[in-house]
Amino acid sequence: MRYNDVSLRVLPHCEARDPDYGWEDGHMAVDGTNSSDSSSSAQSSSSLSDALSQEQTSASRTREQEIRSELANNPQAVQALDRLAGNLSCYNMTEEQKVQALNDFMTAPNAATAAYVEGRVAQDLGVNLAASHSLMSPDAGTLTMDGQTYSIDQGSLVNADGQVVGTISNNGTVQFNGEEQTRSVYGDINARVELREQLGVNMQTVLDLRPADSRNRLGDPNLNQDFTNRVKDVIEQARREGMSLRVDTGFRTFAEQNQLYAQGRTAPGNVVTNARGGQSWHNYGLAVDLSFGNRPGADAWAANNNWSRYGEIAADNGLTWGGNWRSPDRPHVEYHPGFGAGDAGGMAGTHNRDGLEGVWDRMGIGQR
Ligand SMILES: [Zn+2]
Repeated sequence: MRYNDVSLRVLPHCEARDPDYGWEDGHMAVDGTNSSDSSSSAQSSSSLSDALSQEQTSASRTREQEIRSELANNPQAVQALDRLAGNLSCYNMTEEQKVQALNDFMTAPNAATAAYVEGRVAQDLGVNLAASHSLMSPDAGTLTMDGQTYSIDQGSLVNADGQVVGTISNNGTVQFNGEEQTRSVYGDINARVELREQLGVNMQTVLDLRPADSRNRLGDPNLNQDFTNRVKDVIEQARREGMSLRVDTGFRTFAEQNQLYAQGRTAPGNVVTNARGGQSWHNYGLAVDLSFGNRPGADAWAANNNWSRYGEIAADNGLTWGGNWRSPDRPHVEYHPGFGAGDAGGMAGTHNRDGLEGVWDRMGIGQR
């Protein structure tokens, strides 16, 4: 299953619709004509159109049923889907468009993608650019990038002096005035972003991403760079899906590992590892522990679906996830292509002779 964090999503502003663009009347007929326009002489073709429309509607319903049954074991997703379908009906979408929106939503159900889908749907319906932009812009929130913090006002980025210095969209795209290239709040894993939307009378947070590696642990030269690049890709993908991952621990020396091993055995505390010095991939710069950087006070270690999605993304990037082990270690990912999780201990001799780079050379994963 890939449906995570679907509660983080943007709903369109039905109340902002502009009757001049035909949203009230809609254009529901499958053949592209409004059936109410049909003259009496075109009665038979109207009936045919109705029949086709019904057939297509029933196919759409079947598809929607399929999607719903696939989502059935994720109550959050179903709720979000209901809200999506419910809110989009205010645009008089055709059944085809609804199903397309649901399909898109399934593929990447994060806040920004949902907003993108809705924005695109609005465009498909012939909304003018201003209306489309207001649909795709966060109403409020904050952005911190490169150490500067901006407040968000209807898609505009406002600096501390109250000047508008750029724009931000619900799809995570940032455009600073005077810069040719846009930036992404997902690609910059240390960007802090909170996007808020006015929903009725309430302001709701639809995306909340915190810096993933503010202490630059991934920059530790004792970590293998091929590995850390993959970890960054994992974090970026998770951010695209609305999940805020944070690097907790990385490299450990043999001595630090032995100290950790003693914990709960010969030293106070709970047992936290079964690996002695040299037996953990952390000791070779090939493992890190990530956790969810939730709001302060929130349970960052909850047994929710996000962990398994994190494991899937890690596997997609060639990493081994600790969440599948007999004693699950859900924050832990490690990288040892061609070797098993238990092969770490066999690297100690190489490490003692040739250091970290000797181990990486032996494994064929290059040098830092
Ligand atoms: Zn670990």
